[in-house]
Amino acid sequence: MSSTGQAPPNIGRITYREHLTPDLAILRMQPADGSPVPDFKAGQFVALGLQFAGEDRVTYRAYSLSSPPEEKRYFEFYIKWATEPVMGKFTSALFGMKEGDDLYWRKPAGVFTIEDRKSDGTPDTRRLVLVASGTGVAPFVSYALHLKNIGSERQVVLLHGAKYAQELGYRDILEKIAMENSNFKYLSTVSRPDDELSRGWQGSRGRVETLLTGGDGSSQLENAIGQKVTPENSIFHICGYQGTIDSVVSILTPLGFVTNRNKRKDGSFDIKIETYG
Ligand SMILES: Cc1cc2nc3c(=O)[nH]c(=O)nc-3n(C[C@H](O)[C@H](O)[C@H](O)COP(=O)(O)OP(=O)(O)OC[C@H]3O[C@@H](n4cnc5c(N)ncnc54)[C@H](O)[C@@H]3O)c2cc1C
Repeated sequence: MSSTGQAPPNIGRITYREHLTPDLAILRMQPADGSPVPDFKAGQFVALGLQFAGEDRVTYRAYSLSSPPEEKRYFEFYIKWATEPVMGKFTSALFGMKEGDDLYWRKPAGVFTIEDRKSDGTPDTRRLVLVASGTGVAPFVSYALHLKNIGSERQVVLLHGAKYAQELGYRDILEKIAMENSNFKYLSTVSRPDDELSRGWQGSRGRVETLLTGGDGSSQLENAIGQKVTPENSIFHICGYQGTIDSVVSILTPLGFVTNRNKRKDGSFDIKIETYG
């Protein structure tokens, strides 16, 4: 404990950095004292902190963990450099850092995790439909790796939308899991397919919500699972930008789905949300 009575902040070291594009990176950080990372649940986030010159307080920002809880050597993050409309304070500093540099971190937190039980206490065996835009895929990578590690047989469909094909982070890993496990499906789409960063892209075009709507009555999601989605057979988790969340919720609400932010009287819900701001 310090003289203020507060535990000293945790210090972490950047051990790995991989760029998908100049402003999109996978980073790994390990506790600087060499200890294993603390226990956490797939889907939780870690607040990373930096001390800016001339400021008394450390500035923290939340970042979802993309690594699974079984990975004790490091935390992995999938981070976009915020550049518009103005340069982001934290990410501009973070993208200037290199392997070996230190930063502060707070222990994992958050409730954007997989529910095993419904509000009435009965097991929740519904299919998990995970909808992500951009770096919102990070917690779902942690889910997918965790479910694989524990040999779960839960049905999972992951829908990921990005601007460019090159920004479909973790695509190789997710496609491999889908190939090896018939319970896991991965659908991806690109909203700027004609850009240089999407060169060679032959897959779906449009934002991620287009995978939930279909001209002929059934969507790409429903074609993939061979069934209409209902609150009885599917629970949705949505992560990413507010626009994506609003669009997906507006598609699902007429189908009878209810979000965790607006639960039914009995506490039940069929959509769980995490907004990145
Ligand atoms: C639970 C949670 C998990 C998250 N997980 C991730 C993750 O896995 N990966 C990830 O990349 N991000 C994630 N985020 C977002 C992350 O926490 C930061 O918000 C993000 O990195 C931007 O931080 P920043 O300091 O660089 O930008 P900030 O400086 O905080 O700016 C944020 C936005 O506001 C704009 N802005 C700032 N100042 C102004 C101004 N004066 N006028 C107009 N616009 C302005 C910036 O251009 C930027 O778009 C998560 C957020 C939450 C809440």
